[in-house]
Amino acid sequence: MTKPILFNLTDAELTQFLGDMGQPKFRAKQIREWLMRGAPDAASMKNIPETLRRDLDSVAQMLPVKIIKKLQSADGETTKFLLELNDGETIECVLMRTTYGNSVCVSSQAGCAMGCRFCASTLLGLKRNLTANEIFAQILIAQWELRGDKFSDKPIRPNGDANNNDVSHIVIMGTGEPLQNTENVIDFIERANRDMGIGWRRITVSTCGIVPGIERLIEWGRPINLAISLHAPTDELRSQIMPINNKYKLSQVLDAAWRFTDTHNRQLMIEYILLGRRNENGDTELYNATPEYAEKLSELLAGKNCMVNLIPWNAVDERDFASPSGNAVHRFQDILIKNGIHTRIRRERGTDIGSACGQLRLNNAK
Ligand code: SAH
Repeated sequence: MTKPILFNLTDAELTQFLGDMGQPKFRAKQIREWLMRGAPDAASMKNIPETLRRDLDSVAQMLPVKIIKKLQSADGETTKFLLELNDGETIECVLMRTTYGNSVCVSSQAGCAMGCRFCASTLLGLKRNLTANEIFAQILIAQWELRGDKFSDKPIRPNGDANNNDVSHIVIMGTGEPLQNTENVIDFIERANRDMGIGWRRITVSTCGIVPGIERLIEWGRPINLAISLHAPTDELRSQIMPINNKYKLSQVLDAAWRFTDTHNRQLMIEYILLGRRNENGDTELYNATPEYAEKLSELLAGKNCMVNLIPWNAVDERDFASPSGNAVHRFQDILIKNGIHTRIRRERGTDIGSACGQLRLNNAK
């Protein structure tokens, strides 16, 4: 029989569970506090009796995810986790310590069904959607990494914590397509805001462009950030690298995205991976990163409230692309700037620990 997962119990269920073990009511509150800080086991819960800690660890699991691998980048800024779910599926999450706070990139699905040609996450297909608890547990893993049990005199208050010791930002940009799991993602965001105090504006959902999902976010009405994985400025090119474009055309995706940002007066984030291809001489030719495509992208976005994040492609062995040179990346950016488009080049983080989407999970499955 699998052990019950305490984090998944309601307060009433947790009180009942502990009551059955002969524990007083206040125990549930103490344990809930530890769970909300990401305590991986009862042994870490310092203010409960030692015998109870031992008993609890033998009959129950604390969080719905377990760390099976933890990698630290050489610069100490990025920590990447490979996590195991209760049914043996694995997911990744990444903690990034930045000048503006601590950002966690969470997965929304085990695997992905979208089939984007440049991405590692989709290579093994979709296994299943994550529950809201499984998404939430990823930020708790990061929270524990940041602060561990050193919290007793300080509540978690990420928006005002000068010590920068708490998770302050969430990006739903890990494995999976969040808008194929929209209701659980919404439930997760509501709880991250309510229970961890993370502001709507510090939470970003990234989508490959599922129009009904964007419409659901508009109806939901919270002023979070929306990021669109565009990667190509024409339908012809986009359909070649992103099969979802055969279902929702560029104009439909952007139309929905502008409606979202107009509702909340927010800037839209556009993600644009810069891809090259090796020719038969072994040289890299630009693919979606040519000056012509930079001009086309500028036309598409002219006058709109958006920021283009240029992402030099993180190499994935199984994928038939190449990363363009630094010069080519800057040339592409210069054209956008000349045309008045806000843009920045995304700093690569943790490339020494395989931080490109889905690589850790993929390598683990090999
Ligand atoms: N499915 C969602 C969120 C997950 S992907 C989406 O498509 O937005 C998060 C971002 O990483 C997307 O912009 C995706 O296109 C990009 N990405 C995927 N593989 C990458 C790689 N090898 N190098 C750089 N970025 C990659």
